[in-house]
Amino acid sequence: MTLEKMFSMGHEEVVFFQDKTCGLRAIVAIHDTTLGPALGGTRMWPYESEEDALVDVLRLSRGMTYKAAVSGLNLGGGKAVIIGDPRKDKSEALFRSFGRFIESLNGRYITAEDVNTNVDDIEHIFTETNFVTGVAQQYGGSGNPAPYTALGVFRGIEAAVTKKFGSRSLQGRSVAIQGVGAVGYELSHLLHEAGATIIYTDINEKNIAKMKEAFPQASFVESKNIFSTECDIYAPCALGAPLNDENIPQLKCQIVAGAANNQLKEDRHGGILREKGIIYAPDYLINAGGVMNVSIEFEGWADSKSRRMIDTIYDKTLEVFRISDEQNIPVNKAADVMAEKRIESIRNIKNSYLGKTNHRIPGQKRRS
Ligand code: NAD
Repeated sequence: MTLEKMFSMGHEEVVFFQDKTCGLRAIVAIHDTTLGPALGGTRMWPYESEEDALVDVLRLSRGMTYKAAVSGLNLGGGKAVIIGDPRKDKSEALFRSFGRFIESLNGRYITAEDVNTNVDDIEHIFTETNFVTGVAQQYGGSGNPAPYTALGVFRGIEAAVTKKFGSRSLQGRSVAIQGVGAVGYELSHLLHEAGATIIYTDINEKNIAKMKEAFPQASFVESKNIFSTECDIYAPCALGAPLNDENIPQLKCQIVAGAANNQLKEDRHGGILREKGIIYAPDYLINAGGVMNVSIEFEGWADSKSRRMIDTIYDKTLEVFRISDEQNIPVNKAADVMAEKRIESIRNIKNSYLGKTNHRIPGQKRRS
């Protein structure tokens, strides 16, 4: 069953780990390493079954292959899931044990933070392996990725605005942000500085209060009303797939561009947005600021290097729009085409034997 799924989705390797001493049960999926070692975060979730965990890790790791490829990174796609309740099952031993298993993969997989894992958990993993990113800044890492993810989303919004209105400026544009957590809040700062009008929603009282204090002039709407809010840009920055058959007909925006992963419930929803004349900036491209940021850790992280790389999301998004127009396909398909083309072209140059090389594996440099 697992091998069949791996075959149909194109995975190279799936590894199951368990350690009775600390209750660790984890799966690492390595999707494609044509471009480099597989990088992707570790998600901790109380999955109802092993099957649910496997489906999630296979889907997420494949998504990382496309994200890295379209972002121009020399990384493959991978992801890990730890089966457990983050509120009660976390321990130093669990994350260190997990780190030791990652070490045993010898750099084929590099981990990072994801849903329900944070910089403290990463620190425990880092005790046991160098094949981890998102390490705290005091250890030479890049720390919290949210401001960098937000910067990438902002560049993606600028590209979509350029395409729709012929000017990059956000002055006077209205943006409806769904979810003002780590990324949505940072994005609000960038939009505010650029002169945009902010409308927002959330279901977390603490995050709403934080927004009220930072942006008293912004308007709050109830969560259920965010789709029908009149605005130039709708920015999904919460969880789940908001673009589905029920919500798309309600949209009163010209652009959809936000941080949330997997915004389209199904691929065909990209086509529906296109038919409605709504510009959609592909989620995995414009939310790649976080992964771009951690990728800099391999060569010595610096804020300026990271920002320079993330700024390229503007041109990359315009390129995806161009492919979409040229091939008459929805933008989500165009992003896939761009990613697949890059992977294929690099796979092709690897046909010849080079003899022994000293090719550096990311993660090794920090070891010395
Ligand atoms: P977060 O948990 O800090 O914020 C999410 C916010 O959405 C929370 O404030 C939550 O209350 C709110 N929310 C949840 N359901 C809602 C609903 N139905 N209506 C309104 N608000 C709702 O998460 P984050 O780190 O800001 O990430 C946001 C999204 O961006 C996620 O989909 C995440 O996978 C994606 N993403 C994040 C990063 C990153 O660097 N953090 C990188 C890439 C992608």
